[in-house]
Amino acid sequence: MLLMNPGPVTLTERVRHSLLQPDLCHRENEFFDLQDEVRSGLLTVYALHPSEWAAALITGSGTAAVESMITSLLPAAGRVLIIINGVYGERIQNICERYQIPAAALSFDYLKPLSLDAIRARLQTGFTEQRFSHVAVIHHETTIGRLNDLRAIADLCGEYGAQLLVDAVSSFGAEQICFEHSCLSAVACTANKCLHGVPGVSFVIARRAVVAKALCRTYYLDLVRLIGAQDRRNTPFTPAVHAYYALAETLREFAEEGGREARHRRYTALADQVKRGLSLLGINATIPESQSSVVLRSYNLPEEISYSVLHARLKAVGFIIYAGQASPGFSTGSSSNALRFFRISTMGSIESTDISRFLRHIEELIYGGRS
Ligand SMILES: *Cc1c(COP(=O)(O)O)cnc(C)c1O
Repeated sequence: MLLMNPGPVTLTERVRHSLLQPDLCHRENEFFDLQDEVRSGLLTVYALHPSEWAAALITGSGTAAVESMITSLLPAAGRVLIIINGVYGERIQNICERYQIPAAALSFDYLKPLSLDAIRARLQTGFTEQRFSHVAVIHHETTIGRLNDLRAIADLCGEYGAQLLVDAVSSFGAEQICFEHSCLSAVACTANKCLHGVPGVSFVIARRAVVAKALCRTYYLDLVRLIGAQDRRNTPFTPAVHAYYALAETLREFAEEGGREARHRRYTALADQVKRGLSLLGINATIPESQSSVVLRSYNLPEEISYSVLHARLKAVGFIIYAGQASPGFSTGSSSNALRFFRISTMGSIESTDISRFLRHIEELIYGGRS
């Protein structure tokens, strides 16, 4: 089965085999060597210096990393502006509500680019007559495949004295991230999207200076304790050891294949192949390519076929595609509209020949093999 859903991804055989290594006690040096390798490998993906940045490994899915970042890095007097243009932005809003973190949401039409003017105006207004200390945003909104302009948002943060917290769960490893921007405080990420690892490990990469001022509101997801213990070659809890083995292997594979830029090029070629092939069949992208990531794209479902039929037929020949995601904030209204598009991710062990086969199957489904 080939997974074209946005994580977990199809594994390479090399990564799958990496799971079959000796059992490790997480209190032994062998485990800490593995943990050290993974933590430094993650910083290497964006050439970050360990004196300035720290990677905190968390046993949990991507949402655990987002929750750890949000609940640890907002100080007691913090106020966060959450930029929402998809379900993952809504998730950050839900996290803030759950922990009663002072927050305001600024929502945008999922189908249109963010309005920097609207963000500026909201930062100008502030929150209950005070300035926002932070802005939270999703880098790649997987809901529709939109790549938000991090640098422009970080620049706005600079103008208004705010720090930026980023959900980069579905972009880390493939898209550019402006770590050099002084307003960027932290990013939350996962092993089983653009890095091609197995589910079970996520991570936050945070500026050490910011971690020093953290206020941790949760027990398990306490970023200060996680980083402190991991810096001392320790771990507070039982980690997903086998998922660490896989993450270490994916990072080796990633480096050997040429790193972040090579992964971006690889995804670009595959996404272009999908887009060209589908457009020949009259299936068009939901948003313009210039606004899309290379990781995942949304396509408008042709009139001739329902999502459930398309999904089932493709599954029968070995491909898992992903439905559109409904949301109360979705501009086009009712949740049934979400079923008028579908998503294709190019993450994981997917080759150009797989895409060609996939396109031939869709052509057969729609045109019955004629044409
Ligand atoms: C996948 C994803 C998440 C988290 O998903 P988990 O199911 O918790 O791993 C968060 N944000 C974005 C943008 C995502 O694509």
